[in-house]
Amino acid sequence: AALDIGHDLGHAILNARTFEREHELVEELQALDAYKGQLIATVAHELKNPLTSVLGHLEMLDASPDLSGPTRGSLATMERGAQRMVRVIEDLLLLAKVGDANTPLISVPVDLHRILEDVVDLSTMAARHKDISLVVDSPTDPVLALGDPDELDRICGNLVSNAVKYTPEGGTVTVTLSRRADRVELSCADTGIGIAPEDLDRLGTEFFRSSNPEAVAQPGTGLGLAIVQRIVERHGGELVVESELGRGSVFRVTLPAA
Ligand code: ADP
Repeated sequence: AALDIGHDLGHAILNARTFEREHELVEELQALDAYKGQLIATVAHELKNPLTSVLGHLEMLDASPDLSGPTRGSLATMERGAQRMVRVIEDLLLLAKVGDANTPLISVPVDLHRILEDVVDLSTMAARHKDISLVVDSPTDPVLALGDPDELDRICGNLVSNAVKYTPEGGTVTVTLSRRADRVELSCADTGIGIAPEDLDRLGTEFFRSSNPEAVAQPGTGLGLAIVQRIVERHGGELVVESELGRGSVFRVTLPAA
């Protein structure tokens, strides 16, 4: 019996040490993650100011009356490039902000129905261009979630614009809003290219883009869903994705109701 006690004690000490080491590792990883967020935010911030100045000067040059056709063409190409960079930088700044546990969360009642109307309006042109039917299925009275209006707008905007982007001509995108007890659910379903099972777990990782050639053919940075995932998490919500390659995808977000 004495031997057994010694043996058990040895095990207990070993377990305690392993636990302590694991705890340290988790803390080190959290510190590294926070450092990564700060690095991204600082770099993005430092790039934004000079880029805004470049854009201003390009616009000024563009306004001058005596430019040749080719020069005007070059200016327009530079302006498009710079505007794209500004969008990427703004996404990086937002990602750093919503990924930072110290960023306070605004928590007010937000009518998702209203937000969805605006978001769908913005995507209508792109959908029409590809002959995609964009269907909204929602109660007509307010569907109130609790959270930050701008961040919830971002969730809806990113999901709907992705659905339109990754759905080929003639497809359908259906956005559904519903209330479930103390939660509200937003689902965005498309009949698009779908996502391979091995990619599903990586969708919320920053910069992840599927290697599926049909997906690569679309412009993007791989930041949109990482932003959505972090916003959902900090609101105490949940994001579930179901998808089948070549058939389509459903992105379901549940959020606390107001
Ligand atoms: P982006 O669209 O800028 O590449 P996202 O973070 O929004 O970045 O999406 C990450 C990847 O997830 C995309 O590159 C694409 O491969 C895949 N994806 C996102 N939404 C859909 C969708 N509705 N259908 C198919 N694939 C999608």
